[in-house]
Amino acid sequence: MAAPTFLPLDDVRYGTAEQMSPLIRRVIAENPSKFTYRGTGTYVVGHGDVVVIDPGPRLDAHREALEAALEGERVRAILVTHCHSDHSPLAAWLREQTGAPTIAFGPHPRPAPGTDPIEPPDDDVEIEESTDYDFRPDVAAADGDVIDVVPGATFTAVHTPGHTSNHMCWALGEESALFTGDHVMGWSTTVVSPPDGDMAAYIDSLRRVAGRNDTVLWPTHGPPRRDAETYVTALIEHRLERERGVLAQVRAGRSTIPEIVEVLYADVRAELHKPAGRSVWAHLEHLVDQGLVGFDGADRPMLDGTYRPC
Ligand SMILES: [Zn+2]
Repeated sequence: MAAPTFLPLDDVRYGTAEQMSPLIRRVIAENPSKFTYRGTGTYVVGHGDVVVIDPGPRLDAHREALEAALEGERVRAILVTHCHSDHSPLAAWLREQTGAPTIAFGPHPRPAPGTDPIEPPDDDVEIEESTDYDFRPDVAAADGDVIDVVPGATFTAVHTPGHTSNHMCWALGEESALFTGDHVMGWSTTVVSPPDGDMAAYIDSLRRVAGRNDTVLWPTHGPPRRDAETYVTALIEHRLERERGVLAQVRAGRSTIPEIVEVLYADVRAELHKPAGRSVWAHLEHLVDQGLVGFDGADRPMLDGTYRPC
């Protein structure tokens, strides 16, 4: 199986609504980073009566661009994929402006005390996107719920835990389209970082998307993908291959996450070794679940834990 091929960098225009399909417009926020690619893509779906997906980060320019894009429209619902700070914070403002309800799986759970040894981060290294713990949806959606508030634009909730436990993709039936948030990104693999991120759930959720037969995936970051099954299958294989690499390192006697990262990420800049460690941690949790790896000295697999083959 070939590695996933990421699409070439696309040109983006910040601050304007671009028509992407008959029903879909996109406004990109100017918050480019190593987690957000060119920025957060906020989607506006429908005409006249509209649904907004992931209003985005708290940035004045993005709020103004969204306000301009929505002039003359009636916002009927605000769908949120998950509560990272590049996705959900402007939902509160948009709700206030429009009276439209926010709809999402639920708030982002806080890590249980003691489960995340470097929360908050202990230095300036950006490990992952920060979390918008303040977001609480007006309507908590469950997998399969149908949101039918705009004529000609019917959404179905597709719960896809893994990147976060509350991650929801939103399917638009009329265009056989799936808004994938950060579950499937168009330009890179996503972050799966315990304790809220979960590799087993993530791979299961990828399998679910691969089997849905959507014509097009609309990620929050990066270009649309029209090769959903092939692309998502390659993403799954990429993760499983990395997991086999982690298992091989444990079997070769490397018992801590930094030791494993040093070998597996030897060709990656040292500043990325911390986020890589979170990813190795997620794989170790998954290997423990499968009975292939054991751990010592704690009641659950930890970032600073000691691992051994089973
Ligand atoms: Zn995210």
